[in-house]
Amino acid sequence: MLSEKIQLVLNKQLNAEFHSAYTYLSLAAYFEDLDLNGFAHWMKIQYQEELVHADKIYTYINDRDGRVVLAALKEPRPEWESPLEAFKWALANEQALSQKIYRVVDEALLERDHATHTFMQWFVNEQVEEEAIVRDIVSDIERIIESKDGLFLMDRDLASRAPDDGPDSPV
Ligand code: MG
Repeated sequence: MLSEKIQLVLNKQLNAEFHSAYTYLSLAAYFEDLDLNGFAHWMKIQYQEELVHADKIYTYINDRDGRVVLAALKEPRPEWESPLEAFKWALANEQALSQKIYRVVDEALLERDHATHTFMQWFVNEQVEEEAIVRDIVSDIERIIESKDGLFLMDRDLASRAPDDGPDSPV
């Protein structure tokens, strides 16, 4: 059984993951509009991963006999200044998500909810990967920013991204 407090923070995190998914879908739409289909594809994969994260939390709350309560989603940002600014913003989004995850972990420790603490470690590890991947793409864009061909080649590269299940379960 989940405590009221843990149930609340998990439901908040569920909303944060859905909002993140919505944000990546908005980023995908931005890149579709620029005809950078590889970038858009990358964002769509990211969108789907965030939905998987939300679903993990949904399942966990139910497994612990808690109650999932869905809240309204905040409108995602619709426009960015450039592909570089869009990816920098995506990195900031991931960093903010990591902080939110740490807050859930903090609460789990305070409440001595070891099951939730263990469950959340997957997300802690996933965020390390997410931040590293997005940071690498920001660096790549910064490197090729002067060349239009560079953006074109990068678009082809990002088009080949396949879905990833995230870090292996520690158990
Ligand atoms: Mg996530």
